[in-house]
Amino acid sequence: MDANADADTVTKTKVTALPGDGIGPEVMQATMRILEAANAPIEWEMAEAGAEVFKKGLITGVPRETLDSISRNGLALKSPLETPVGFGGKSANVTLRKHFELYANIRPVRELPGVTTPFSGRGIDMVIVRENVEDVYAGIEHMQTTTVAQCLKLMTAPGCERIIRAAFALAAAEERKHVTCATKANIMKLTEGLMKRVFEKVGPEFSEFKQDHIIIDNCAHQLVIAPEQFDVIVTSNMNGDIISDLAAGLVGGLGIAPSSNLGDHAAMFEAVHGSAPQIAGKGLANPTALLSAAIMLLRHISAFEVAETVEQALFITLAEGKNLTGDLSPKGHGVGTAAFTDQVIANLGRSSNLPSRVYSKLELKAWPELTAHTEPDTRELVGIDVFLESGLGSEELGRSLEEIAQDTPFRLNGVSNRGVQVYPATGGQTFLVDHFAARFMLKQPIPLNASSANGQAEISYLVQRIGAKFAWMHIEKLQRFDGKDAFERPQGEG
Ligand code: NAP
Repeated sequence: MDANADADTVTKTKVTALPGDGIGPEVMQATMRILEAANAPIEWEMAEAGAEVFKKGLITGVPRETLDSISRNGLALKSPLETPVGFGGKSANVTLRKHFELYANIRPVRELPGVTTPFSGRGIDMVIVRENVEDVYAGIEHMQTTTVAQCLKLMTAPGCERIIRAAFALAAAEERKHVTCATKANIMKLTEGLMKRVFEKVGPEFSEFKQDHIIIDNCAHQLVIAPEQFDVIVTSNMNGDIISDLAAGLVGGLGIAPSSNLGDHAAMFEAVHGSAPQIAGKGLANPTALLSAAIMLLRHISAFEVAETVEQALFITLAEGKNLTGDLSPKGHGVGTAAFTDQVIANLGRSSNLPSRVYSKLELKAWPELTAHTEPDTRELVGIDVFLESGLGSEELGRSLEEIAQDTPFRLNGVSNRGVQVYPATGGQTFLVDHFAARFMLKQPIPLNASSANGQAEISYLVQRIGAKFAWMHIEKLQRFDGKDAFERPQGEG
C-alpha cells in the first residue's frame, strides 16, 4: 500500500476498533483523530467488548458480532478492557487472544525522547517477543486435595517453533542483529528446555543474526544492569509477561507501552495499560500507548510512511514537552487528552532528533491447519506415576505402596512430595503435604507401537489395588520415545 498517495485514491484497510472501558474510549478517540489528520489509510468498524458486555450477561465479554468483525477484517485496534471482579467470567482480553490464536505478543521497548527515567541515555531499544497462548496461561488448574493446587504448564514444540520463527522474522523486518532466547531450562528441562532446544534447532536457519540463550532470572537482572545489550528477546508466556513489564518500566512505564498480538489469521494491537478507572471520563488520559499501538498497526499493513509521520509527530511532541498529559508533566502542569492530541496533530510533518527505525513487512510463517502430531519410531511404557492423597508419613506410605505393588508387573521406585523424593528416605528435611507421587516402574517395559499390548491391563490392575486403599487424583504414564526417557526424575532420586 502506498501511504504517500492521495488519501482519496488509496484503498482503505478495514480495522475493527474496540473503544473498551474506562479511559479506553478517550484514548481511542484521540488516536483516531491523529490517524485521520495524518490521512492514515484506515476505515474503522466499531465493535463492543468488555464491561458493558459482561453486564449484559455474556460471560466471555466479547459478543459474536465483534468476533465476526475481527474475523472478517483480520485486524483490530483495542483499548483496555476491564476484567470485572465479582461478576462476569474470563478476561475478555484473554478470550480475544485465544479465540484468534494470537500466539505472538510483540512488545517494543524504546527510550522515548522527553520521557526521563533513571535509564535515560542508555540507548534502550529492544523488542520482547512473548509466546501468548501456551504455558501456565492455558489455565489448566485443578485442586488435588483441599490444600494442594496444581497448574499444568503445557509447552509444545510447534508452539515454541512458531514464536521463535516470529522472533527471527521480526528481527529481519526491523533490521535487528541479535536474538536472545530466555528460558528457565536449567530447572524445567522438559517444558522450558523444549524452547531452548527448538531455538537451537531453528536458529541455524537464521545465521545472519547473533544468537544466544540466557536463563530468565539472569535476563531480568541483565535488563536492569545493562538493558542496552538486548535487541530481540524471545521467551515463554509467563516469563514474557513479567520481563516485558519490567522492560517497559525502564523506559517510562506501562502507561506509554504498546503491543501487538499476531496470529496466522488476525492481528490485534493494544496499549499495555489497563482502563485506569480512577481517571476515566475526566479527559486526563495519555493516549501515547494506544497511538503507538496504532503506529505498529500502520506498519503491519505496510503504511510505513504514515506510520513514520505519526511516530515523528509523537516523538517531537514528547521531546519538546509542550502540552503533555499529567503523567508526563511536572505536577500541576499537565494538559488534558484533547490538548495533547491537538499538539501531536499540529506536529504532523515535523521530525524529531530520534529517527524512526527501518521497518519492512513482518512475514510470519504460515502454519498448516491440522493437528500437529509427530510419531516417534519407538515408544515404550516403562512405568507410571500415581498422584495420591494421604495423611500418612512417608515411611508408612512407602511400605504400604511397596506391598500393593507386590505380585503386579510393577515395583515401587519411590515416593515424592512436591517433587522431592521422601521414600526411600534421602536424609532431606522435606515438609510433607497430603499429596504424594508414587513412581512405579514396570519390571519389563512394554513396547507400545508393536503389538496389541498397550499396558492398559497392567496399569488398571495396579491402580485398582491402589484405589482400594488410597484416593488417587491422576496418573502419568512414564514413556520412552526413541529410547529416551520422556519424564523427569524427582529431586533426590538416586
Ligand atoms: P491501569 O488501568 O493500567 O491503571 C493503573 C494506573 O496507571 C492508573 O491509575 C493511572 O495512574 C496510570 N495510567 C494507566 N494508563 C494511563 C494512561 N493512558 N494515562 C495516564 N495514566 C495512566 O491498571 P489497573 O488499575 O490495574 O487496571 C484497571 C483495569 O484494567 C482492570 O479491570 C484490569 O483488569 C484492566 N486491564 C486491562 C488490560 C488490557 O485491556 N489489556 C491490561 C491491564 C489491565 P494514576 O491513577 O496515578 O493517574
